[in-house]
Amino acid sequence: MKFRAAVLRSPDTPFTVEEVVLGAGPAPGEILVEIAGCGMCRTDLAVRRSAGRTPLPAVLGHEGAGVVVASGDGPDGAVAVGDHVVLSFDSCGRCRNCRGAAPAHCDSFASLNLFGGRDEHPRRLTDATGGALAPRFFGQSSFAAYALVTARNAVPVDPALPLELLGPLGCSVLTGAGAVLNTFRAGPGDTLAVLGAGAVGLAAVMAATAAGVRTVAVDTRPARLELAERFGAVPLSASKAGLAERIRRRTDGGAQYALDTTASAPLINDALRALRPTGTLGLVARLNTPLALEVGTLDRGRGIRHICEGDAVPGLLVPRLIGLWRAGRLPFDELIRTYPLADVNEAERDCEAGRVVKPVLLPERGDR
Ligand SMILES: [Zn+2]
Ligand SMILES: [Zn+2]
Repeated sequence: MKFRAAVLRSPDTPFTVEEVVLGAGPAPGEILVEIAGCGMCRTDLAVRRSAGRTPLPAVLGHEGAGVVVASGDGPDGAVAVGDHVVLSFDSCGRCRNCRGAAPAHCDSFASLNLFGGRDEHPRRLTDATGGALAPRFFGQSSFAAYALVTARNAVPVDPALPLELLGPLGCSVLTGAGAVLNTFRAGPGDTLAVLGAGAVGLAAVMAATAAGVRTVAVDTRPARLELAERFGAVPLSASKAGLAERIRRRTDGGAQYALDTTASAPLINDALRALRPTGTLGLVARLNTPLALEVGTLDRGRGIRHICEGDAVPGLLVPRLIGLWRAGRLPFDELIRTYPLADVNEAERDCEAGRVVKPVLLPERGDR
C-alpha cells in the first residue's frame, strides 16, 4: 500500500513529506494502524545528533495514536481491528527485565527502539523509487498516515476519547508522570524539584500536583515557568544564583526527589545539593558529557537513578494517566499544538525554538 510519511534522509536536511510504499501487511504479532496523530518528542529530533545510531533515511515518530485497520493475529489477538490504540515503546517480552514487568529496561531496548531499522524484511518500507527506509522507530515509525506496529506496543483506549491528541501518553507524558508515580512513588508529604519545564518536566509537575506532592520547577524561560506554576509548581529561575539554596528553602529544607530533564551538569549538581538525606535524583535525559560529582553530594543515603519511559508498563500506566486526565488532574492536552503532517518542519522549528511544548502531527486525507 502507498501513503505519505515524513522521511528524514540525513542529519542536516529537513524532513521530506513523500509517498512511501509498505510492501507487506502485518505478520503475526503485528498490527497496521491508521495514524490519527503523532506527537513530536525530543528523541525524534535527537536522531539528528545521534551520530548514526539510528540508520537513515528513516520514518521517525514514536508518539502515535490511531485505529487498528489490520492485524497479523486475526480476531484472536489482544488488539483487534477497529480498536483505538495509543502506541508506546517496543520491548521483546522475553528477556529477564520484560518478564519482571520492567519492559522499559528491556535488554533489546536500543535495537528495538532507537536503531529503528532492524527489520526481518529490510525492504518492507520503501520510498517511491524502491529505496529502503528504516521503519519501526520505537516499533512504530508513526510520522506517517499508517504505521506497521508491534502489537505489544499498542494500548487500547476508549473510542470516545479524542484519539488524535493521545499519542504523547505513549512517551513524553508517560516518562514525566511515570517518574513521579512509578519510580519515585511520590505522595502527600513528599517534595520534588523538576529541572526543565518541557513536555516531560511539565507532565511530572502535573502528576506530582495530582499526587499531593509539593513541587518546584526550574527553567530559564519565563513562559515555561508560568506554565509550571499554572500546573501547581513553585517556579524558580535557573538564571539566578543560589539555585540549590532556593530549592531547599521551598522544599522544607531539601527535596526528597529531583527529576532532571536537561542533562545540564551544573543543574544536576545543584539538584544533588538540594536533595535531603535519603533523597533520589532521577535522570531522564541522556548525559553527553562526564558528570563530575561534588564531594559529599551522595552522602547520607542519597542516590541517582536513570529513568527510562517512566519505568512504565504502558498497558497499566496509560489507562491510569487517561483516568487522571479525565478527572482534570493531568491536563497534558494544554501543552499540545497540532500541525498537518505536511508541516513537520515548521513543527520541528517551533519545538526547537521553544515556541510550542508538544507538537502533534495530524495526517490528512490526502496523505492516505
Ligand atoms: Zn525484553
Ligand atoms: Zn519520546
